[in-house]
Amino acid sequence: MYQTESGWKSADSTLRQEIFRFAEGYKDFLNAGKTERLAVGEAVRLAEANGFFNLEEKKTLVAGDKVYFVNRHKNVFLAVIGQEVVEAGIHFIIAHVDCPRIDLKQNPLYSDSGLALMKTHYYGGIKKYQWTAIPLALHGVVLTKDGTKVEISIGDKPEDPVLCITDLLPHLATDQMQKKATEIIGGEALNIVVGSLPAEESDKDSEKEAVLALLSQEYGICEEDFLSAELEVVPAFPARDLGLDRSMIAAYGQDDRVCAYTGLRAILETNAPKKTAVCVLTDKEEIGSMGNTGMRSAFFEYAVALLLEKTTGHYNELMLKRTFRHSACLSADVSAGVDPTWPEVHDKLNAPYIGRGIVLTKYTGSRGKSGTSDANAEFMYGIRRCFDEHNVFWQAGELGKVDAGGGGTIAQYVANLDIEVVDCGVPLLSMHAPFEVASKLDIYMAYRAYSSFLNE
Ligand code: MN
Ligand code: MN
Repeated sequence: MYQTESGWKSADSTLRQEIFRFAEGYKDFLNAGKTERLAVGEAVRLAEANGFFNLEEKKTLVAGDKVYFVNRHKNVFLAVIGQEVVEAGIHFIIAHVDCPRIDLKQNPLYSDSGLALMKTHYYGGIKKYQWTAIPLALHGVVLTKDGTKVEISIGDKPEDPVLCITDLLPHLATDQMQKKATEIIGGEALNIVVGSLPAEESDKDSEKEAVLALLSQEYGICEEDFLSAELEVVPAFPARDLGLDRSMIAAYGQDDRVCAYTGLRAILETNAPKKTAVCVLTDKEEIGSMGNTGMRSAFFEYAVALLLEKTTGHYNELMLKRTFRHSACLSADVSAGVDPTWPEVHDKLNAPYIGRGIVLTKYTGSRGKSGTSDANAEFMYGIRRCFDEHNVFWQAGELGKVDAGGGGTIAQYVANLDIEVVDCGVPLLSMHAPFEVASKLDIYMAYRAYSSFLNE
């Protein structure tokens, strides 16, 4: 009979040590990469330290070469050239580094009732009420009038101040508490408190003026510069060990930086594979993979075309199509683990559990598999065999009960290019919350799974 059980039961002390050691590097990555830009920056730093070169600076490529290609600071494509020609197919790991968050509006700053505040527009699927009354940090870039790019990072260093969104006291929340959860905190109520000192010689909008003076002095930014900025508000706390036994990690942004980090580690340690190995850390997954840094962008095809051109000296469309047709991909994204407090949303026979290893999800989608690529049985077999041969702890699982909701991943866009693809990632609890939970065992097994796939 097919059964899964806790992977910890079959993890000996050597493996346990390896699992716990691996988690330390992961926490560092989460803390260093709280936005897609910062995560891409950290990935490039690690890639360079591991012998990867900028693809755009290489005229030709040969087997064993390691290259990265950054797209608009928010998306990176890393490749290790295989012994076979690129056209024989690529093994892709694709994860996303954008996470649900709160973005500043284009003209954010105002003052009211003795406070300076900033207006926001949330990004991705969040329960808005989870983002009030917690410490928040601000990260991003501002391009000033003269073209200077100013990097902003406030709230994550221990000595930094933090920001927050206030909530109503229970004493006066009689009306609020009657509302539906989607309306408890409205979209226009996600206002960030940024100051309360008034400017000296001003009576109207005094606190706003004081914040502008401070921004000008410390960063050389004026109010109009917000128009050419990308500023993202994220939880200000670091990744932590979770549980008395430290067997889990709780942190912001594990969907999907857990698969991004494990995929990244796997490609960094891949040497002269048979097939060309590629890891893509993509952007905009949380809002439908749109835009020129998302998986629906032509950037992906362009990057693969460059590999073809730089390994053979020529290029045509047929080469690209053949490459895709011969390729295979793990869509590395998280799944929803069974939460014993909310068992009613899962079919327990087909749900993933924390601590039982990486999850293979044949199909996602909603309302009758709408919006899924549904992996082919033959491909499922290939992955199953690969994982079993490499002693990967894995489980099959789908995202919740039929009609309980659902969701999609980048797998469908990859599949549309004629590539074999299946979803394969770490199960989380509290997905999309400011503090998401993952098992250290599953994190390690994601790394082992991606490594075995890239080297297959
Ligand atoms: Mn995801
Ligand atoms: Mn997500």
